[in-house]
Amino acid sequence: MEKVLEVKDLHVTFSTYGGEVKAVRGVSFDLHKGETLAIVGESGCGKSVTSQSIMRLIPSPPGRIASGSVLYKGKDLAKISEKEMRKIRGADISMIFQDPMTALNPTLTIGKQLVEGIIQHDGSPKEKAKKRALEMLNLVGIPDPEMRFKNYPHEFSGGMRQRIVIAMALVCEPEILIADEPTTALDVTIQAQILDLFKEIQRKTNVSIILITHDLGVVAQVADRIAVMYAGKIVEAGNRREIFYKPQHPYTKGLLQSVPRLDLEGEDLVPIMGSPPDLFSPPVGCPFTARCDFAMEVCDKAYPFKTHLTKEHHVDCWLQDKRAQKMLSAAK
Ligand code: SF4
Ligand code: MG
Repeated sequence: MEKVLEVKDLHVTFSTYGGEVKAVRGVSFDLHKGETLAIVGESGCGKSVTSQSIMRLIPSPPGRIASGSVLYKGKDLAKISEKEMRKIRGADISMIFQDPMTALNPTLTIGKQLVEGIIQHDGSPKEKAKKRALEMLNLVGIPDPEMRFKNYPHEFSGGMRQRIVIAMALVCEPEILIADEPTTALDVTIQAQILDLFKEIQRKTNVSIILITHDLGVVAQVADRIAVMYAGKIVEAGNRREIFYKPQHPYTKGLLQSVPRLDLEGEDLVPIMGSPPDLFSPPVGCPFTARCDFAMEVCDKAYPFKTHLTKEHHVDCWLQDKRAQKMLSAAK
């Protein structure tokens, strides 16, 4: 499958009075044409910072891409000028956030916002832009778009507003859509409708989607591949079947046990006890050691190597690595 984005060994830090927070610590992944990649983890794991780094939207200072690259169409987005980046944002890579209100201007009708977005993007004449805006509203399932054109954002329900935000994000036909917790603020039924909408839009436009979420349940419906982040690192990644049916990292297993599942009715949900480590001074070993039921002596002495289980499935855990014993002797 064609690669549209390649993130390589990304490190992002934030300077604070207390010291440097290492929010993203060597993240690598590819995104393919027309697929949905979900990045999953608890709050503070670095998933939002990763996506904001791709868009170069981390507040700087205090944030900084310390090293690594984000390759898109032969360019390294981590290094190009802000002027070049501005051309890519929206037009090639678009982003939507949890709260649709922050993405919409409350003082303008949604029609005006969409039309202006299109005119700014490609200089279309007004009539053509209007036609396209109506098509977009149709695509995202706003009933009677012609009539709703003159409505302001507050005149729509939360679910409808998120649909409008999706229309705004897609209006310039980006190749990549990054959605950061796009359904978290919505109730469960609306959540499912928005996720269905993503799939439908993907079928129609072949857009590649990065879906950021803390909720593995959300991912089950829509993700082709899943990357699980913990303490600034991708600790396990694989296709949806591999992550749901053959998870290997104890953290992934913990996440799965804390999500209600239709296929395992009656099983108790088990929260993961404890909290992630402080990223001012991340541990040298596996950052999950303090919370892991399987932790061994080697675990807090050295960070595990990446073990490849299949072409797509890989995990950073000593349980999967035959070298664990040797590392332990070396560390002693
Ligand atoms: Fe648990 Fe050790 Fe694996 Fe980390 S490396 S997840 S502490 S078993
Ligand atoms: Mg976040």
